[in-house]
Amino acid sequence: MNAPLSPGLYIVATPIGNLGDLTPRAASVLSHADVLCVEDSRVTGKLLNHLGVKRSMTNYHDHNADAVRPGLVARMGSESVALVSDAGTPLISDPGYKLVRDARAAGHNVVTVPGACAAIAGLTLAGLPTDRFLFGGFLPVKAKAKADAIAELAHVPATLVFYESGPRLGATLAALLNVLGDRDAAVARELTKAYEECVTGTLTDLAARYTDAPPKGEIVVLVGPPAVREVAIDSDAALREALTRLSVGRAASEVADATGLDRRTLYARALELKGAA
Ligand code: SAM
Repeated sequence: MNAPLSPGLYIVATPIGNLGDLTPRAASVLSHADVLCVEDSRVTGKLLNHLGVKRSMTNYHDHNADAVRPGLVARMGSESVALVSDAGTPLISDPGYKLVRDARAAGHNVVTVPGACAAIAGLTLAGLPTDRFLFGGFLPVKAKAKADAIAELAHVPATLVFYESGPRLGATLAALLNVLGDRDAAVARELTKAYEECVTGTLTDLAARYTDAPPKGEIVVLVGPPAVREVAIDSDAALREALTRLSVGRAASEVADATGLDRRTLYARALELKGAA
């Protein structure tokens, strides 16, 4: 892809540690885009050095995004604008969604150049269900806000994925255990780097391991979905009530809408409850 890039916005994923994970297409866009928007020019500068490319860069980060966005969107009408973050996929716990939103609203071409993402890399290693997952980003740091945020996700029938730092890992695992109860989980660390590891176990095991031994490096925490039995017990009262008024299918749908629980699981449980009545 060495032809000049058409005008528009290019969302370019970069490696999360291993420079070999930069795709040829990403390298080409980084080399040829008219405008290169970066979070930190020192970080992206190292990647450009690796490519043997010297480019001027424009900052686009949380502190200046609102001020510089209109100018960038205006340039997309006649120039190619590439957005990269320090590592991984832009917009995933990184700036960019408003730039995409405004580029679309202005009618510009928006192109994705996908690649590494720590959440997805963690999912591929953890051995937890991947048919459904919920990306929770970074949990709040303060204990009460953290517990509240976890409680909101307690009944989601999906693997939960969080970003975390070493020093905060122990407190986060303890909060997950406290609010969710024991579940299968994984701590994926330093993905794609020399000391990549993925430690699996129950939340009890992992909280015990890391509470007094905070690990170094970058971390993804993954927690398996609630047991089907747990979902069923929590929703039984609502289903029983709904079954006094509605068919099995409609009762399952109503409780699914009200709780965010999986409709198929609720339907199966509603059939059981109706059979037992
Ligand atoms: N946009 C990035 C992505 O696509 O993964 C994430 C950016 S977010 C600001 C940075 C967080 O991602 C880190 O604090 C860590 O939780 C996670 N992360 C990034 N690189 C990682 C790696 N190599 N191994 C494990 N986690 C990583």
